[in-house]
Amino acid sequence: TWLKANSEGKLTKQICKVVLDHFEKQYSKELGDAWSTARDILTSPSCWQYAVLLNRFNYPFQLEKDLHLKGSHTLFQGSSAYFPESLKCYLSRSPDRMPSERHQMGNLKKYYLLNAASLLPVLALELQDGEKVLDLCAAPGGKSVALLQCAYPGYLHCNESDRLRSRWLRQTLESFIPQPLVNVIKVSELDGREMGDAQPETFDKVLVDAPCSNDRSWLFSSDSQKAACRISQRRKLPTLQIELLRSAIKALRPGGLLVYSTCTLSKAENQDVITEILNTCSNIMPVDIKGVARMCSQDFTFVPIGQECGLLVIPDKGKAWGPMYVAKLKKLN
Ligand code: SAM
Repeated sequence: TWLKANSEGKLTKQICKVVLDHFEKQYSKELGDAWSTARDILTSPSCWQYAVLLNRFNYPFQLEKDLHLKGSHTLFQGSSAYFPESLKCYLSRSPDRMPSERHQMGNLKKYYLLNAASLLPVLALELQDGEKVLDLCAAPGGKSVALLQCAYPGYLHCNESDRLRSRWLRQTLESFIPQPLVNVIKVSELDGREMGDAQPETFDKVLVDAPCSNDRSWLFSSDSQKAACRISQRRKLPTLQIELLRSAIKALRPGGLLVYSTCTLSKAENQDVITEILNTCSNIMPVDIKGVARMCSQDFTFVPIGQECGLLVIPDKGKAWGPMYVAKLKKLN
């Protein structure tokens, strides 16, 4: 019974106990008190927040006015070196989720709804006009769309190994990006682990938004048998994540920058993956991104993880964003 009627007769999602028990054990050990707050937020969808990323290619001036009137504010007010003016994202005060726009042929969508923390990996990449960029695990395309709000890359390669999800990715790009720009985007369906050999030393920037335990959605798994299976398979994720990173490093030109991100709180998929890469790849060094955390400390809660190159956003009261882990690496010349 995944959906249950509440006291007002509305259908609400049910927590999957197998997943909650598993997280409870692991995260109370890894995160202490911060986990109990995060657990309360993650298990109460009525506390969740949504951010509205405005599409610069079909700018919704009226919607922007309405958002102001409703008291929404833009993320990263006061801007900084990391923050391009062309990226406009509003944090809504109202708990009501705006409707997602329908796909209409010949009409670009005006906004994209997202978890605001998922902009952090995009900002950490510091994309500049003309650069060659690879989004290695790209579907459904939220971060590719956000990257194009920041700059005009010379070449954008979006890869997604899953066939159905790659179709979804193409549709996202067509819904938000004007045709002449879509033409400089390549979409491929490779296993990301093969990209390094297919395109060695090609890219200035690479984003590895890795397949991971999706803490927020796993907690609401409707099928507990499937959930138990996911949990037992979870141990294999770090190996895949490390292999994807090794491939991404190969695809990066010397001097290029890489951002790794996940939407889990799990240390094994976050800090431990980056530590393994730093310990085994002599051509890679960490890049300090504490500045990114400072820039948005008003809107996000970060937990200290003792890693200069890594940040962990944890859901908190009134700042329900995350989970999101971001780390930045540089390939030496
Ligand atoms: N970046 C996306 C966005 O912002 O919309 C979300 C990416 S999601 C966290 C990870 C994606 O990686 C999934 O779509 C999954 O199908 C894909 N994936 C899983 N294994 C992969 C592999 N070996 N190579 C490439 N993509 C893979």
